[in-house]
Amino acid sequence: MSLELLSKLNEYVGDLFAPPDPILEAVLEESNKAGLPEIHISPAQGKLLQLFVQITGAKRVLEVGTLGGYSTIWLGRGLPADGTLVSLELNEHYAEVARKNIARASLEETVEVQVGDAREILAEMSRSESGSCDLTFIDADKKNYLDYLDWVVRLSSSGAVILADNVIWNGSVLNPQDEESRALRQFNEQLTRDSRLSAVVLPIFREGVAKLPSGIDGLAVAHVVRR
Ligand code: MG
Repeated sequence: MSLELLSKLNEYVGDLFAPPDPILEAVLEESNKAGLPEIHISPAQGKLLQLFVQITGAKRVLEVGTLGGYSTIWLGRGLPADGTLVSLELNEHYAEVARKNIARASLEETVEVQVGDAREILAEMSRSESGSCDLTFIDADKKNYLDYLDWVVRLSSSGAVILADNVIWNGSVLNPQDEESRALRQFNEQLTRDSRLSAVVLPIFREGVAKLPSGIDGLAVAHVVRR
């Protein structure tokens, strides 16, 4: 199947199940204006995140890698009124843009964006909030995915869901030639090795942006079966 056909199918699914919404369009526009990289998830993937939150009934959601808050808003929209979402972002400027975008989506009471090295914040959180997260979405620098997973499993409640973006990386995990691809391959292997987890990877189509061409990517879905 050609990339062109996959791109059309992705657009078809996105338009049908996650049609353009003025808030999310403004969020992407503001992120773009502020100079954030265009590496956000697709509308269809956003809808999938929202559904995961709703289906699991998650009340405490964690996100590693906020960027401009696009995926954060999809996750937040799946939460019940008493739900909370903590999103971690290394870059202060991205976090500022995200906070404005989150307020634009009226989720400022639900979502807290914390700035810093996610490994440090997760380590700190796991001291006081071990076993508290119902659903986590990891979408940050690929080299640290394994470290994030280690902390996130400790932070997860029994039965929690852990999702991770970009784990196929245009197929480069099949024959890793760089540090990011190697890290992602190790991450996928760790999902199968960790006896607390049951996992699989869903193929996802990714629209190309300046640096990254269009291609096949993957969303890892892991269930914390025991702690
Ligand atoms: Mg991503």
